[in-house]
Amino acid sequence: MTDNSRLRIAIQKSGRLCEGSMDLLKAIGVKLSIRDRLLIAHATNLPIDLLRVRDDDIPGLVMDGVVDLGFIGENELEEKMLERQALGKQHQFQTLERMEFGGCRLSIAVPNEFDYQGAQSLAGKKVATTYPYLLERYFKEQNINAKAVMLNGSVEVAPRAGLADAICDLVSTGATLEANGLEEKEVIFRSKAVLIQRAGDMPDAKQKLIDKLLTRINGVMQAKE
Ligand code: ATP
Ligand code: ZN
Repeated sequence: MTDNSRLRIAIQKSGRLCEGSMDLLKAIGVKLSIRDRLLIAHATNLPIDLLRVRDDDIPGLVMDGVVDLGFIGENELEEKMLERQALGKQHQFQTLERMEFGGCRLSIAVPNEFDYQGAQSLAGKKVATTYPYLLERYFKEQNINAKAVMLNGSVEVAPRAGLADAICDLVSTGATLEANGLEEKEVIFRSKAVLIQRAGDMPDAKQKLIDKLLTRINGVMQAKE
């Protein structure tokens, strides 16, 4: 069992948020001995345990109160929040800080040959995405009668494979879209990584440690400006 008096922070084990989260923890003086395959890493100089998981699991771990803090992309966080809200599950959390890493946008893109005249051109179409709740919310706000088709991977090949007419996926440079004959048309969400805290009471000692970490994070971020 893990020690409940230690602050538990969930971070992505490997992927686009991993380096930014680890670099930040290092910059604020959290010393870690990470063994690559382990789920949990203990800080050697502070009462902190890191849980290294898939980013998809982080919002739920925080909202269920299993961990105290988590580093997560706003796209994933908002999607999971909408999903949990729809399912009637706990979806509370508090955003402590917006980070300077993990920047990307969630965009709708269509094949080059699609005669796109604005978002209403999507009416009656299928749009493949890993973020169906964010996409459905957009359709609703824009009064578009289109369908989100859930795909956990290979979203960018869905139109070519005949699974969808368009896609809604994360973009940073646009190179992947271009390589797949797709054109970015609508940005529906802009995202960065955030540090979030679980809802509910926090023991004094943990709260003090969180405050100390936040002060250091702010210091690191200001030094970079
Ligand atoms: P995991 O194995 O943890 O589930 P993943 O494949 O879902 O990993 P990554 O591709 O590592 O996730 O992306 C994690 C997060 O990084 C995204 O949810 C997003 O917030 C951010 N991100 C930043 N730039 C990009 C990009 N160009 N494409 C995808 N995600 C990006
Ligand atoms: Zn993921």
